[in-house]
Amino acid sequence: MKGIVVFCGSSAGADPKFAQDAHELGAAMAKQGIDLVYGGAKIGIMGKVAQGALENGGKVIGVIPEFLKRKEVYHDGLSDLIITQNMHDRKLRMHELSDGIIMLPGGFGTLEEFFEMLTWAQLGLHPYPIAVLNTNGFYDELLQMLAKMVEKGFVKAENLNAILVDTNVDALLDKMKAFQPLPRPQWMTKEQI
Ligand code: AMP
Repeated sequence: MKGIVVFCGSSAGADPKFAQDAHELGAAMAKQGIDLVYGGAKIGIMGKVAQGALENGGKVIGVIPEFLKRKEVYHDGLSDLIITQNMHDRKLRMHELSDGIIMLPGGFGTLEEFFEMLTWAQLGLHPYPIAVLNTNGFYDELLQMLAKMVEKGFVKAENLNAILVDTNVDALLDKMKAFQPLPRPQWMTKEQI
């Protein structure tokens, strides 16, 4: 893998393990020569993942929309800071710069970014591994909800099973490296509808 985009909270969260794991992920990526692509903030879990990578000599590319940069909470010590016009351009740029996706604990913004990448994968628009670092079971209930979507016929089991989940940073990166993308989806023809 050349670069991984990491989506995570702009807050620190209520459990110190969130920041610890974020730092550990940044460090592990740097040591493995994998670029970190992320939202460019120096605050919250976002700041910790960048710090972990930078302290270990990693390349860190922040991608931030103009209006957030003006809030002056961007990280000014990154290898590269790309300014985009808006949130949509930002997500596309992050996608172009990476070939893997990881979600760490976070809030609405984190989920929105993760689910867009997941939806693109489901549509066959990219073949990249999509992973969740489930620190201290933070995402257990979300994963249960996704299983319910399979049970109730809204999500294909294979699409849910393609999401890589682990509580350990190194194990998660290993799963991503071994990931085999699903075959591109076969679209229903008019006759099948
Ligand atoms: P949340 O999970 O709701 O904390 O949202 C995380 C996302 O919020 C990030 O990926 C960014 O899109 C956005 N965000 C919030 N604050 C900042 C900031 N200071 N700099 C860059 N992005 C931010």
